[in-house]
Amino acid sequence: MTDAQFVCHHGNVLLFFGWRPRSTTVDTGIFHCPREGGDRGYELKSSRRWFTLFFIPVIPLNELGDFVECASCKSTFYPSVLDERTTGQIQDITTIAIRHVAIAMLHADGAVDQREREAALTVVQRFASTPYGHADLEADLAELSAADLTDHLEELGSILSPDGRENVLTSAVYLAGSDGHVDPQEMEVARRVGRALTMSSAHIEGTVQQELARLGLSN
Ligand SMILES: [Zn+2]
Repeated sequence: MTDAQFVCHHGNVLLFFGWRPRSTTVDTGIFHCPREGGDRGYELKSSRRWFTLFFIPVIPLNELGDFVECASCKSTFYPSVLDERTTGQIQDITTIAIRHVAIAMLHADGAVDQREREAALTVVQRFASTPYGHADLEADLAELSAADLTDHLEELGSILSPDGRENVLTSAVYLAGSDGHVDPQEMEVARRVGRALTMSSAHIEGTVQQELARLGLSN
C-alpha cells in the first residue's frame, strides 16, 4: 500500500494520519522518450514513502526507488531509459564520423583538389545535422586526424542499420572517385571505413564495386 489516510479519535482530538509517496527531482535533462519517439525533457525523480500527519509528510519511511518522468507526456520509465541515445546525440555522432571519413579520404592520396573539396561538402551536408561550409571543411582539413577515424566509425556502426552503414561506405567511395580516379590508398581508406562499421568483407567489396561501377571507375 503506497497511499493511505486514516482518521482516529484520541480523546476529543480528531487525528488524521497515514502515509503516501513523495518524489523529489534529483536530475533533469534531455532523453529519448520511447512513448513519443523523440527527444524530450525529463526529470529523474527519487520516490520515498512518508508518514503523514494531517496530510503533511512528517517522517520519511522506506525508499521506493528512482524513476524517469517525461516532461512532455508525463509517462514514467525505469532509469535505464536514460541509457538510450537521444536523436541529437545520434546526429552528433553521425556528423563527426562523416567529417572524419571526408578528411581521411581527402588526405589519402596526398593531394586535395577542388573537386574533392566540393564532393566532401556534398557528402558531409547530406549526413550532417548542422550547416557545413567551406570554412568548416578547411578547419577540419587542418585539425581532424584520420587516426581517429576508426573510433568514430565504430560508434556510428553500433547505431546504424545495415543500409545506413552501406550509405556511409558508398559515400566514402564516392569521395575517393571525386578527383576522377581511385588510388590504392583511397581504396584502403574505404575498406577501413567498412571494417570499422563492422561490415563483412563480402558486403564491403560488393558495396565498393557497385559504387565504382556507378561512377564509371575501376580500381
Ligand atoms: Zn514523452
